[in-house]
Amino acid sequence: MTAPPKPSLNPVPVKERMKMPRQQMPEQAAELRAANFTEVNLGYSEELARQEALRCIECAKPACTKDCPVGVKVYEFVQLIVAGDFAGAAAKIREDNVLPAITGRVCPQEDHCEGGCLMGKKVKPLGIGYLERFVADYEQRMGVRNLPNVPPSGKKVAVVGSGPSGLTVAGDLVQKGHKVRVFEALHELGGVLVYGIPEFRLPKQIIREQLDYMRDMGVEFETDVVVGRTVAIDELLEEEGYDAVFIGTGAGLPVFMNIPGEHLNGVYSANEFLTRINLMKAYKFPAYDEPMLDLHGKDVAVIGGGNTALDAIRSALRLGARKAYVLYRRSETEMPARAEEVKHAREEGIEFHMLTSPVEFLPDGVGWLGAVRCVRMELGEPDASGRRRPVPVAGSEFEIPLSVAVIAIGTSANPIVQSTTPGLGTDKRGYIQADPETQRTSRKGVFAGGDIVTGSATVILAMGAGRRAAKSIQEYLTTGEW
Ligand code: FAD
Ligand code: SF4
Repeated sequence: MTAPPKPSLNPVPVKERMKMPRQQMPEQAAELRAANFTEVNLGYSEELARQEALRCIECAKPACTKDCPVGVKVYEFVQLIVAGDFAGAAAKIREDNVLPAITGRVCPQEDHCEGGCLMGKKVKPLGIGYLERFVADYEQRMGVRNLPNVPPSGKKVAVVGSGPSGLTVAGDLVQKGHKVRVFEALHELGGVLVYGIPEFRLPKQIIREQLDYMRDMGVEFETDVVVGRTVAIDELLEEEGYDAVFIGTGAGLPVFMNIPGEHLNGVYSANEFLTRINLMKAYKFPAYDEPMLDLHGKDVAVIGGGNTALDAIRSALRLGARKAYVLYRRSETEMPARAEEVKHAREEGIEFHMLTSPVEFLPDGVGWLGAVRCVRMELGEPDASGRRRPVPVAGSEFEIPLSVAVIAIGTSANPIVQSTTPGLGTDKRGYIQADPETQRTSRKGVFAGGDIVTGSATVILAMGAGRRAAKSIQEYLTTGEW
């Protein structure tokens, strides 16, 4: 494996680096991309990547790595880009991150590596996510593979769910010589990465390539297996000879608002709406015809302010919506969506109605949605989440004509595995209880992590849990101690 060059090969004096502008991500023009599902961000060229890498001020104690949930060695991989060793940079990232082409695209970097970047205190932080994506795409284009070369351990690990937490566990453990098999309930692998996040942000081909890489590493996959129905966790451990099981089943159950009119035709959960687009291929319209999702001439609103909400409404725009609104009950400061997605959505023409909450969906007279009645909100004292609580403003109700509404206010735990695994501890909301350091559950040999433990979070937090679980499974498999 290539070591980072020492001393630094960066010819630019440190003082000058602070004056270099952050290299912009080339992207499709807003008016073009609003009508297609092709990726918005086009990726750095080699030249742009090297220019951006040259900005790194090489601090003595880089916080970027500390603030990355999987601990990517940012300084080292960036120095390898400066040296022009892109394959070496890819190998460096892969020491800690088995899905770099995905995290480089969807990580909320402002909350992690780039949030910790010292440059960010004075100028724009280093474009770590963009550089990670560049290196991962280079690796894929060049067919570079860093495959494990370890003797088989004789141990077998089952991973339930093929989202980012499960894939991380699988990728880390196969590199220890264990036989790892991932069981996935759906016919497609990737979890939310494939059925939630739309093509224009994370092309399915990228996920397929990362999965092929994992297959080359030796990970085995089996789709259409609903653990808890097709096979129980106890059967995996007691009859099928698995030495440990990791549960990474996510939090895919939609949550509704429980307001009048939610049953009307035209009101969807974000989960159903995005799954239809992604897995039933409505995004390939007109090649794949999903008549319910022909939104030409229709007014559409999404309720919520997270990544899911923005993905849903930006997809609606691409499917022909005439007007596309975000209705969010707090202000932009509290919006959980990634900053880049909010910016992109605005540029594409999405209208944001902040401090707005629906109170009733109104029919059009023939059983379909015709309008939504909303109330204006104002922000009161902080609630349990630390964000200021939205409070309705008396007498402020108003209506917006609508044909389609998508509810994206959160999800909850899918209960199948918990209800079929005796002795598996859950909290009162039905999420699996796992130790935050070791990801061990109340059942010997059973580990859990990602959204099924924390509730809906992010790709990189799920991967961080996967890393901790893999380390802890390794300890369990080598010591036998619980
Ligand atoms: P998941 O990705 O949910 O995967 C769980 C997998 O387990 C699924 O494939 C499911 O089918 C499978 N499964 C469930 N039950 C069983 C069973 N009984 N047997 C077998 N398999 C089972 N995060 C970001 O960081 N950046 C973003 O930009 C971002 N955008 C998002 C957009 C949308 C639309 C959504 C919904 C989420 C987004 N997130 C984003 C959140 C992120 O995708 C999740 O936090 C992350 O995918 C959780 O990973 P996971 O491994 O815990 O579970
Ligand atoms: Fe940053 Fe995410 Fe890469 Fe970590 S994995 S360095 S948080 S982009």
